[in-house]
Amino acid sequence: MTKEKLLAEIRMMGIKDKKVLEAIEKTPREKFIRKTDDSQAYGNYPLPIGYDQTISQPYTVAYMIQELRLKKAHKVLEIGGGSGYNAAVMSNVVGKEGKIISIERIPELVEFARKNIRKEGIENIWVVKGDGSKGYKKQSLYDRIIVTAACPKIPEALKDQLKQGGILLAPVNAGFGQEMIRLKKTNHGFEEESLGQFRFVPLVTED
Ligand code: SAM
Repeated sequence: MTKEKLLAEIRMMGIKDKKVLEAIEKTPREKFIRKTDDSQAYGNYPLPIGYDQTISQPYTVAYMIQELRLKKAHKVLEIGGGSGYNAAVMSNVVGKEGKIISIERIPELVEFARKNIRKEGIENIWVVKGDGSKGYKKQSLYDRIIVTAACPKIPEALKDQLKQGGILLAPVNAGFGQEMIRLKKTNHGFEEESLGQFRFVPLVTED
C-alpha cells in the first residue's frame, strides 16, 4: 500500500484531526522498521521490530494520538518506545516547543529507536531505558501520558506524574484484548472513559 492509500484508509476509519494526519504524512514509517519489511511500510498493520515486539498499526498510532488530544508545546511521556515511530509522529504534533520522553525496557530497542530518531534529525525526543510502569519522575509533571503496551491496570506512578487537566491513554487488559482507557486528571480526581477494544503486546514490569 502507498502512503496516500494508507492516509485515505485511516481517514475512512475515523481519523479527522488534521494535525495527526499531517504528522502521519510527514513521518517516514519505512525509517522505523527493519530493512527487510521495506515494501510493507505503509500497510495498515503492525510489523515485527525484533525481540518479540512490534511497531503498532498506523491506524492505532493515529487513533491514540487523536484521542490523547495532543497539542503544540505539550510535554509527553510515552511508555513503550519500541521503534521510536509513535514518538516521532507525536514530536511532529507538539512541535519544537514540545518535548517527548519515551521509556523502553529492551536495551537493543532503546538503541534502535535512538538511531531512527537521530537519522531523522528529530531533536525533541529523549529515549530512556527503564521500566515505564514507574514513569519518569525527573521530568514530571506531564501534559500527556501514552502507554503503548497492554497493562493489567494503569500504574499509580503514571497517574501521579500527570498534570492537573492532563490526559493519560492506556490499553488495559480486558477479556482477550484490551480496553482503551482515557483518564483525565481533574481537581476532584480522575474522569475515566472507555474508548473500545484493541490488541497490544504486554507491558512487562520488574516486580
Ligand atoms: N510505540 C512503539 C513504536 O512506535 O514502535 C511500539 C510499542 S510496542 C507495541 C510496545 C513496547 O513496549 C515494546 O517495545 C516493549 O519492549 C515495551 N515495553 C513493555 N513493557 C515495558 C515497560 N515496563 N517499560 C518500558 N517499555 C516497555
